[in-house]
This record gives sequence, structure tokens and C-alpha cells, in this order.
Amino acid sequence: MTHNVSVEVTDGFHLVIDALKHNDIDTIFGLVGIPITDLARLAQAEGMRFIGFRHEQNAGNAAAIAGYMTKKPGICLTVSAPGFLNGLTALANATTNCFPMILISGSSEREIVDLQQGDYEEMDQLNIARPHAKAAFRVLKAEDIGVGIARAIRAAVSGRPGGVYLDLPAQLLAQTIEAGHAKRSLIKVVDAAPRQLPAPDSVERALALLKGAKRPLILLGKGAAYAQADADIRAFVERTGIPYLPMSMAKGLLPDTHAQSASAARSFVLAEADVVVLVGARLNWLLSHGKGKTWGKPKQFVQIDIAPTEIDSNVAIAAPLIGDIGSCVGALLAGLDGAGLEQPDGEWLGAIAQRKEQNQAKMAALLDRNPVPMNFHSALRAIRDVLKDHPDINLVNEGANTLDFARSIIDQYQPRKRFDSGTWGIMGIGMGFAVGAAVTSGKPVVAIEGDSAFGFSGMELETICRYELPVTTIVFNNNGVYRGTDVNPTGGKDVAPTVFVKNARYDKMIEAFGGIGYHATTPEELARALAGAIAAGKPALINAVIDETAGTESGRLTNLNPQSAAKK
Ligand code: ADP
Repeated sequence: MTHNVSVEVTDGFHLVIDALKHNDIDTIFGLVGIPITDLARLAQAEGMRFIGFRHEQNAGNAAAIAGYMTKKPGICLTVSAPGFLNGLTALANATTNCFPMILISGSSEREIVDLQQGDYEEMDQLNIARPHAKAAFRVLKAEDIGVGIARAIRAAVSGRPGGVYLDLPAQLLAQTIEAGHAKRSLIKVVDAAPRQLPAPDSVERALALLKGAKRPLILLGKGAAYAQADADIRAFVERTGIPYLPMSMAKGLLPDTHAQSASAARSFVLAEADVVVLVGARLNWLLSHGKGKTWGKPKQFVQIDIAPTEIDSNVAIAAPLIGDIGSCVGALLAGLDGAGLEQPDGEWLGAIAQRKEQNQAKMAALLDRNPVPMNFHSALRAIRDVLKDHPDINLVNEGANTLDFARSIIDQYQPRKRFDSGTWGIMGIGMGFAVGAAVTSGKPVVAIEGDSAFGFSGMELETICRYELPVTTIVFNNNGVYRGTDVNPTGGKDVAPTVFVKNARYDKMIEAFGGIGYHATTPEELARALAGAIAAGKPALINAVIDETAGTESGRLTNLNPQSAAKK
């Protein structure tokens, strides 16, 4: 018997794309190969942006920063086994930083992998991903793709955001399914990250604690920046009159030039404050775990976080406020008048102002020096002065000394414009974040990179040139990791472990791909190059020659870098 009715069919490839588009996801960062090449091709053909990278870790970092900037999961697409593992580093980093992203990897067939029969790029990816992700899913039937994508999106952005792994075996992509059935299987995620209102009694407790404070301090973390509750956070800071400190990626939530910023008196306020309001900031190593010398006098904490298990993670939290930052800060604002909060003590504010003035004068003197060759300070002064005229620039920053100094010298004026080494304090995010930020914002990016940090993702200069992205990379070139001065104590032929090729010309690298290279040996040359590169709006790299004796071992992390005491 023959049937004349032709049934319209679709397949796994198309359904993945349809499911993403159905949820307003329009960009994929990735690297093609077996079995996902056609997925990338079809995504582009269907009107999505596919940004192809040279290494999956950088594609993953781009997706992660896109997620941080937009509150929508950034998508990274990789091949199986090694491609997946390369992407997994970025997924783990995203999860650690609370950035929403979805790593989608093609994989080998279950029946061969599970019997360990030796498939092409065989690997049990789902189980490997699990401990490094907020959630991990595998889809085996085309009709479940809609559910798989919906669950991945929800897991990535709801509650504390994080990285999600989605495993798509090769056979699934080619599976056919009747088109009508396929369409009905798609899910549009409703309210992916629902507001979480704080309990009224916890709001009262927090306000009561603040009311009794003599030396209050607000500490803004990147969770506060992520929340996009900018106006309420600013109103809370300004109405209470409490001095605040931004963590590095929260810089710009209020402009760094704001009168209430206590950044220039950081050590003083951390040690002296009696009540600290943590807004989307964890008391991890970046904050000395909330104890010890850094925190000086005894203090009590209010902590606003969406993750209840974050509370008491390092020290006792007197007033936890659990909910999304927008709702929590909104509730505090609403309760301010009723709580009878007064403006902070003049003595406290005066002491801070005095510290700020002293430290700013010290810093100004350092910045004013003009050593030859340039050091970190004179180079960063030049960059700071150019960037003042570009308050909306996206800034990527990594390195040891390059990160530490840039964080305190370069002012941010707008929220979510600074992207850096984050919670792990890692190297390698540079070019991935730069591409992600440029593609997501459509605005220029300046990446201030230590020469060592740059090396982890430098090949993406080709990606930047290929997509003609307005990214200016500045390599702080001091010939090595930390410094370029170590020597091999044996007198042998190999250079010391921390040293690179001397006087390398990183600017020549970008010229190979049609970008503009600059070589800068003075602050004036550096300023001119940066202003020119931003004005040109084209891919550029500035090789900034820094004194190879400048810089300290591990930057400010010397205490984390054990050194042998047993000298032979
Ligand atoms: P930083 O490194 O800037 O100090 P962290 O990454 O340590 O910041 O802390 C961010 C915190 O913000 C995390 O504990 C996370 O759970 C929380 N967070 C993220 N998004 C939100 C949100 N929308 N509402 C409330 N808390 C959030």
C-alpha cells in the first residue's frame, strides 16, 4: 500500500535552533567540527549570529560575559571530548562567578560510550560536566529538545545564576521528527528568573541593625551589578549617605568619582566599620573571608544575596536578606523612612574623607612620575586620561600587577563595563571577554592585559580582526610573568621559568590579520595610540613597553604564592 500524503519533517539540528530563537537567544559563540558544524551553519542561515573562535575556552568566556551583561544565558557551542573540555574551563569559571551561560557540546553515541567501546572522541561528557556546572542535561530524543533548552535556560538564570551543560549526541541532531509535532514541543520560558522578595521581618532586622550603626559601610559586589537594579542601588546609597566600596566588577555601578566612594580609603573603612551591608558580594578570599587584620574592629554584617546557603559561609551574618537584589534593595528603600535611619556620623565621614585625601595625594605623586622606561603607574595614568573621555567604554582587565594597578587607577563611570579575572582571579579571560563584550554591546572595548595573561587567548586577535570588532588590546610588556628579570641560576641555556622573549613586538601579531599595531615606549605615545585606536574603531593592539624590573611577584597575592625557605 502506498501513501500519497507527504509529511513535512524537521530534525534535531533545526529544532535546537528553533528552541533557542523561540527564547530570544540570537547569538552563539563557538568553534565548529564534528558533529556540530552543520548546527553552526544552519544557525547562521536561520538568522542567528555565530561567532567562531580559535579555542573553545575563549568562546566559552565570551558566552559567559554576554550572560553577565544581559541576564540571558550566553551560548557556547563545541565539539565533543577535547572541544568540550576546553569549553568546560569557561563553564566552571562562569559557575564560580555566577554568570549565566549554556555550554552545548556535541557528543559521541551513548551505546558506544557507555560500553567504552572506543568511539571517535569518546567521553562521558555529561558526568564530567556535572560537578563544574550548576546543572547538566542530555537530550536523547528530538521531541525533548524544547524541554532540554527550556530547562537549561531556567537553570542558568534563576536563583543564583551559573553555567549549564547541555549534551547533544550526534545521532540526536540528525534525528527527524514530524514538523507539527516538533513545533508543539517547543517551550517559551516564562519568567525565567522570577523575582524573589525578601521576608518582611528580615528587612526590619537589617534596618534595625543599620539604625544602630555608628560607622556603616556598603560593599557592592558583582552580584549587585548583575542584578541591573542600578537606580535603586544608587538611591539606597545616596539616601542613607553611607560610604560604599565597590568590588572590582561593581565599579561604575555608581561612578568611581562619586563623593560617597570610599575606594581610596579601602583599608581604613574595612578595618573601622561597625556594620557592613554586603550587596551581592561574597566574603571569599577577595575579602579576606570577612576576618583577620583586614577587617580590624569587630563588626556585624547585613548580607543581601539570592543564595540562602551563602549566609554564614565565612563569618556569622547578623542580618541576612535573601532575595533578588532589586527586590531587597527596594524593600530597604521603602522601609528607610519608617526605620528612622539617620545620616551617618560626621566624625566617621570626616575620618574617611581625610584618609581619602591623603591616599589620593600619595597616588597622584606616584602617577606624576615619569620614569624611563614606563612603569605600570605612568602607563596607566596615560590610559586613564584617555578613557575619561570615553565613559561608556567596555574595559577588560587581567594580569597580576596589570590587574591590581589598573583596578585602582582606572575609573569606571557606568555599570557593567568592567570585566576582569573575577572570583578565581584567573588569567585567560582576556580576548574571550573582549569579543563577548564587543559583540554583545556593539560598543568599543579596551583590554588592558599583562603580557603573560594575554598569551592565554592571544590567537583570538584573528577572531577580532575577522569580525572587525572595535577592540583595542594593550599589552603591558615587561618581558615575563610578574617581571622579566629572573635568570637561570645554573647558567644553563634555558631561560628562567618566568621569562619570555625579550622586547617582543606583540603589535606585529595583529598586523598579520589586518589590524592596526602600535608600539608605545612613553606615556605620550601610549595616549596617542589609544586615542587613535578608539577613534578608528578598528581592531588594534598596542605593545606598551614597561620596565622589566617593575612589578612584584604575584601582584598583591604574594601571600598566596609560597616560596621555598630551604635555600641550598
Ligand atoms: P564579588 O566578586 O564582586 O565580590 P561575588 O561573585 O563574590 O561578587 O558575589 C556575587 C553574589 O551575588 C553571589 O553570592 C550571588 O549569589 C549573588 N547574586 C547574583 N545575582 C544576584 C541577584 N540577582 N540577586 C541577589 N543576589 C545575586
